[in-house]
Amino acid sequence: MEWNPTALADELTGKLAMYSGGEREEIISAARWAMGLHHNQKRASGEPYIIHPLHVALILIDLKLDHMSIIAALLHDVIEDTNVTKKDIRNEFGKDVELLVDGVTKISEIKAKSKTIQEAETIRKMLFAMVKDIRVILIKLADKLHNMRTLEYLDKDKQKKNAQECLDIYAPLAGRLGISRIKDELEDISLKFLNPMVYEHIKKFVSEKKTERADYLEKVKRAILGAAGKEGIEIDVKARAKHFYSIYYKMKKHSKQIQEIYDLLGLRILCRTQAECYTLLGIVHTLWMPISGRFKDYIAMPKANRYQSLHTTVMCYEGKMIEIQIRTFEMDHTAENGIAAHWLYKKGFSKEHVRIEDLAIINKLKTWNSRAQLASTEFLEEIKSELLKDTIYVFTPKGDIIELPKDATAIDFAYHIHTEVGNHCVNAKADGHIIPLRKPLTNAQVIEVQTNPNFHPHINWLKYAKTSRARSKIKHWLNMNDPDQMLILSQQEKKKEQAQEKHVNKKEKAPSKTRTTYMNLNKIGVVIQNEKNIMVRFALCCKAVLGDEIVGYVSRGRGIIVHKKSCPNLKYIKDIEERLVDVAWETIMPKSTGRYRIRAKTETDLFSEIEQAIRKLKGNLIEGHLEKTYEDSIMGIFTIEMENHGELRKVIKSLQGIPSIISIQRIQG
Ligand code: MN
Repeated sequence: MEWNPTALADELTGKLAMYSGGEREEIISAARWAMGLHHNQKRASGEPYIIHPLHVALILIDLKLDHMSIIAALLHDVIEDTNVTKKDIRNEFGKDVELLVDGVTKISEIKAKSKTIQEAETIRKMLFAMVKDIRVILIKLADKLHNMRTLEYLDKDKQKKNAQECLDIYAPLAGRLGISRIKDELEDISLKFLNPMVYEHIKKFVSEKKTERADYLEKVKRAILGAAGKEGIEIDVKARAKHFYSIYYKMKKHSKQIQEIYDLLGLRILCRTQAECYTLLGIVHTLWMPISGRFKDYIAMPKANRYQSLHTTVMCYEGKMIEIQIRTFEMDHTAENGIAAHWLYKKGFSKEHVRIEDLAIINKLKTWNSRAQLASTEFLEEIKSELLKDTIYVFTPKGDIIELPKDATAIDFAYHIHTEVGNHCVNAKADGHIIPLRKPLTNAQVIEVQTNPNFHPHINWLKYAKTSRARSKIKHWLNMNDPDQMLILSQQEKKKEQAQEKHVNKKEKAPSKTRTTYMNLNKIGVVIQNEKNIMVRFALCCKAVLGDEIVGYVSRGRGIIVHKKSCPNLKYIKDIEERLVDVAWETIMPKSTGRYRIRAKTETDLFSEIEQAIRKLKGNLIEGHLEKTYEDSIMGIFTIEMENHGELRKVIKSLQGIPSIISIQRIQG
């Protein structure tokens, strides 16, 4: 890729029609100034540096931002990379532009001790910057986008680091602000550098099946257009290309092959009014059967980023599932451009920012003017839990960041500070308000723990402590100081174990009557297409167990029934071809799993013995089956889950202690 700065500047000049004459002049003069300032500098690609700010400005012009944002984009790197000061910018282009450039510069300046702290800090600074002016974030996102587009020129380490940072912070942030075009592109580029093989694989598959898919979608489209026409509704139907990262995400989340991802297929119906959206939904549901649990009404309940649409998934021709989105043209524009759609520069409106004040997100952001308020805002909670996934960050009163697992409580916090603080904590405050010790903490709270030397750990604390550090400290204290409580604890645990044994289907026999199966229902489920947590029933005729090839079908009124693929009864079910759905086994939150084969003398209580032995190593028995092979000998296969891979080595030794077991070996798969 080679860019000629002059040609690029011409392109920029050519796109300024929507700005007033005076504004155009200012933008052009900013471009000239930036060209002069950066003129000896080069990008990693070897190109003149100025092509970067020019591209960033072009991205923002496409988002139709106001002229001050465009000027700030052109100047966004001058403070960092040239001799220009904030004051110079103010003198040339005024206070607003100065603040925008300064805001963008500050975000890049943040360099903290560790990666996690740096991320938390980056997010915090960005959110604070947003409070002042949302345009700062939009400029930063455009800056990131162009840097990502030219990532190939950096070394491998930097590529990976930048790509990961994009996935962790910038893409979710763009998503939060509803700018799906930027979010999707950032995600796709990140995937390309983090996992090039998968990226190419998806790319190839998507382009190979293109014609096939287009034909199919054309047929669906015709049916919808025809039905809408009969109702007198004018619509536009768009086939929707899912971006690569969303396909990858689904494959990863459900351990599926790309061939198994059905809703690669998607359609979007655009109409004029909200009322038409609902009419069209009715039409679609008359044409094809809706899949229950897949309908979402984001028109009645818009997302936090203002996204509005109806979503439904239907069982379409050839039993294929299609996701259909229905929305008005205006809703569609908002969905593509998000917050930027509300920052539209309108000719003749001078500096009015169209409806920006209507955005709930902006109003929320504007109310933040202290850390305490920042912490209490649910938006921050939302964005952080999305950005940071299973971790929360809280602050000490001095402002140090403490990283804790999700759902951690003040007890975990106290033990994190110091064992003595933990052992004597009485109560805790979050953002100045007293909270129960058992209450899960949330992101960005400032936590204060009060201690009293006469207080000490209670057995119930073990229920509330989430970190292993806190739990082991509590147990240690109880062992040393309160052995009675520890006795209660061991009895409680025993009871719990007995209760859990009820999950063992010892009596359940498969049709052959020689097979005993075990399924830990806390650990095993079934995923349908890409949906989890769907209620399914297992057909009684064939009794599928984990590992069997299975299919599901949509029953009339009884949800989805799962059969073995080989079940002879399937062919007798009416319209079975249209009603079949793909289902797959899913182990819920597996850590490290191992599969073992054993030979044993007797099957009596064998599963519960195995389970107890593994529980001692803090593992779980997930599933298994035992079969009588010949007189007095049992063959069995089972899967267990351990905290980590290293623990798996201890399993064989521990199971050899069970008297009935003759031999044991680890197997693949
Ligand atoms: Mn830059």
